[in-house]
Amino acid sequence: MLGHSHAMSGLAAGAATLPWAGQVGVSGPVEQLAWVAAWGGFAMLPDLDQGGIHWRGVMPSSTGSTVARMWGPVTTTLASAVGRIAGGHRQGTHDLLLAPAIFGLLTALAAHNTYASMAVVALGIGLALQALHVVIPGKVEQTVIGNVVISALGAWWVTGTANHALEWLPWAVAGGVVVHILGDWLTVGGVPVPLTWVGGHSVRLSAGLFRTGAKTEHVVATMFAVAAVVGIVAFTPLQGYLAPVIDPVMTSAPLSP
Ligand SMILES: [Zn+2]
Repeated sequence: MLGHSHAMSGLAAGAATLPWAGQVGVSGPVEQLAWVAAWGGFAMLPDLDQGGIHWRGVMPSSTGSTVARMWGPVTTTLASAVGRIAGGHRQGTHDLLLAPAIFGLLTALAAHNTYASMAVVALGIGLALQALHVVIPGKVEQTVIGNVVISALGAWWVTGTANHALEWLPWAVAGGVVVHILGDWLTVGGVPVPLTWVGGHSVRLSAGLFRTGAKTEHVVATMFAVAAVVGIVAFTPLQGYLAPVIDPVMTSAPLSP
């Protein structure tokens, strides 16, 4: 699946899980929206296994997934290291058992150190900006410099002002990763059977519904985007603000004979 499709499925899953988000510490409408945005962003994280710096003559250029290209050389270098550790693209970071556990655990551990915690929050903000780029005016958040600056300032502000650690963040990370893996499972390329990638010859699992980037994928992504909006309206106080608009429409709709 493309980064955009993963983001939309993550946003939809984040919105769908809002009724339970309170149990992992999400409180108030701002955190509810941050929860949904984090799911959308981290649903792109597993593709941090695909990227590197390629040289065109003397000019370096970053290639790879959305997350790998996000912060230029910083994320491409990280991506090529992650890819090496995880055994290549769609291997270890796409293991349905190990990947959510390890990414979630790393996020939980990062909360114990100010700088590590800032780095994780910045990554989350950067990815969320990428996930939400369709509703953000302009393209600043999609440029390397623009994204780095906004993410760094945002992370500095969040870790400085939040009166408690974002205890729900590891859950949003693990959740986003699970959604990503399920999304890639739908495609022809599939995902590895857990742990089989370790030896270098992974057994694949695939629903084989469509190829990455196919028309079907774009239709599915749009459906997820609509589901995310419906979920946000239904499960956040936003419903209260929209009620004067929605209710007359609903009640005046003629009943079918
Ligand atoms: Zn993937």
